Amino acid sequence: MTLRFIALLAFAGLGSLRGASDVHAKQFAIYYSFDHAPLLLLVSTIQEEFGRVMAPANIDVAWREINKQNGGDYADIYVVRFRGDCSIMPPGESKAAVTSAERGLGETSITDGHVLPFAEVRCDVLRRYVSIGPRESSDAISIMGRAIARITAHEIYHMMTGSVRHCGSGIAQAEYSTRDLTAAQFAFGAPEITRMKEKASGRGEAYAPKAEFPGPRPAL
Ligand SMILES: [Zn+2]
Repeated sequence: MTLRFIALLAFAGLGSLRGASDVHAKQFAIYYSFDHAPLLLLVSTIQEEFGRVMAPANIDVAWREINKQNGGDYADIYVVRFRGDCSIMPPGESKAAVTSAERGLGETSITDGHVLPFAEVRCDVLRRYVSIGPRESSDAISIMGRAIARITAHEIYHMMTGSVRHCGSGIAQAEYSTRDLTAAQFAFGAPEITRMKEKASGRGEAYAPKAEFPGPRPAL
């Protein structure tokens, strides 16, 4: 078995340091964990932004914290682990330079050509890209939450469609700039929305293993 990853990268140079009426959503579940206990506002911001970018695809997601809420009957289950410190870096705190080997903001596991339902979001790398300047604390948390939600949506796209492909623009592109991460608006392109909508309606043909949770998780 060969295990590899599809990585979502950050632009190396910028790190200054749904619609058819006959489509009915099936509910998917995201089982998630944080390395460090997050603020409730951060979690709610992530879920709200994720819901906003997935809404055009009629994607209905239940968020379930690993080890706390394991019940449920879902169309598919995806596991997302938020690695490192997901809090915003305070203004003035020095940022260690992000090396080319560290540019991965998120990744999804692949084995034997199949996309597995396991992904990670690398908060420790992300927080070194997202610069907020002096802002109200709640604004800073919202910006970080928005960025985390977009990386999460990118990885869910891979898992939901079973595709390792990226597109030229939008959330399914291969690399994000700081602006992509933090701008007020950033969305999937129309073709990607269509693919996920087909998956949600059961018309997609993508490989989508039924994960038994908690199931075996590939070593990273
Ligand atoms: Zn990707």
